[in-house]
This record gives sequence, structure tokens and C-alpha cells, in this order.
Amino acid sequence: MSENWGTGRQWLKAELHAHCSLDPEDRCMCRHTPGQLIDRAASIGYRILSVTCHDLDVWTPDLADYARERGITLIPGMEVTVERGRHVLVYNFRTAAENLNTLEKIRARSGPDTLVIAPHPYFPDRSCLRGMLRRNPDAVDAVEYSGFRVGGLAFNRRAVRLAEETLKPLVGCGDVHFLWQLGRTFAWVYSEPAVHSVLHAIRRGRVRLETSPLAWREAAAWWATAVWRKAVRGKGLDEVEDGRGLGTAQQSVKP
Ligand SMILES: [Zn+2]
Ligand SMILES: [Zn+2]
Repeated sequence: MSENWGTGRQWLKAELHAHCSLDPEDRCMCRHTPGQLIDRAASIGYRILSVTCHDLDVWTPDLADYARERGITLIPGMEVTVERGRHVLVYNFRTAAENLNTLEKIRARSGPDTLVIAPHPYFPDRSCLRGMLRRNPDAVDAVEYSGFRVGGLAFNRRAVRLAEETLKPLVGCGDVHFLWQLGRTFAWVYSEPAVHSVLHAIRRGRVRLETSPLAWREAAAWWATAVWRKAVRGKGLDEVEDGRGLGTAQQSVKP
């Protein structure tokens, strides 16, 4: 899918919620390095990608160059933890996670070049914003439609309703922990392929959703693999290999 009406804008395939082997919280679940994530995304047509590790921005100029050589614009991003364990996706804030650990701090630092998405807001997990989102709709720019969905369960329904009521864009994201999740639920963004343009386009609602549910056996395999890897690898895993020498974890740029 590619359209260009002379403005330089095109429909760009985007994944804005993905974890990797550098993730401080989920590294024992995710075996793929940032480079491998970029490689796979590029191979199936993605043009926009953000590696949103928990409380750590792994974006570096080298990694962005690596992505650009493969046709992908890499958006700086994190899945930060706020208000006693709730998750929020933040993009292009260029500051450390501890400066974004409350909705008030996020609100204070938000600007025209940043983006905030409420991930999996109504899933049955204490990491979800739930009622806090409805009480603070101004803290986020968009609402995630989570790719972690299986037939018969409608955990995204309230997110869709909230997005409609608050006139916020709904952004499809895979919450990718395993590479096979790419290509199932994602966003198309009508934008030029530059970081600020993409974030601006999403804030303006130039985004649409593509989604297909996971089969029950896929969801079961996801949980089984996650639990097994956490049990086997979760303890004492101090080093993760990065076969390409890319994406060495760094603390975000301090203000
Ligand atoms: Zn999360
Ligand atoms: Zn996540």
C-alpha cells in the first residue's frame, strides 16, 4: 500500500509497540535483538518502527542508521511505568524514564514533537490504566488497539469506545515480544517518513488500523513460551547477546 499525491506523504506501515532482548523487564521473553527486529519488520514492508522497552529507550543514532538503510524510520520510544505499575507508551521525549513516571510528568513534558499512547488500556492486568485513563484523557494523544486479542474476548472494546468519545486516534500495535507477532495488528500512518512528521500525523488522526486476531493456540503458545522463558532464563540473566553489535542499551538522554 503506497499512495503519494505530491505532498510526500504516503501510507506507511507502522509498529509502535515492540520489545527486544535489551528490555530490562521482558528480555528473558524476547530473544530477538533490535537489529533482528528491524530486519524482520523491513522484510514484511514496515516503514515505521519503535522499540519500546520497559523504562529504557534503546534508540541510538547507529541503530536509526541501520534501520534507515533498510527503509525504516526508527522512532525513539519507551513503555514507561507510571502510578504504581501502569504502562504508558511515550515517543521522542528524549529523557530518562524516571522523568516520565507519573501522568503529571508526562503531561508537563508533552509537546508538538512527542506522542503518548495508552497501551492495552482495559485488559485485565494491573499494568493497564483503566479508570485512570478516563479521569486523565488529556495525558495521552492516542489509544492503543492491542494485537493481543483472540476470538471471543473483547478487551479492546472499551478502548475503541473511549477513543470515539474523546476523539482520539486509535493506533493498532502488536505489543511484539516474538517476531511472529509482526504483521498481525499494526497501524498505517499517512505521513512523510520522518520522526516528527509521523508523530504529528498520528496526533492529527491520519492513522488507520489493520488487525487480525490471534488463534487460541497462538495465544496459548505466547503465554506458555513467556512463562517458560521467564522461569528458565529470568534468573541471573545479566548479559544478552546482540549478534549485530547494534542497539547497546543506553540510558535515555538526560535533559
Ligand atoms: Zn504493557
Ligand atoms: Zn509492551
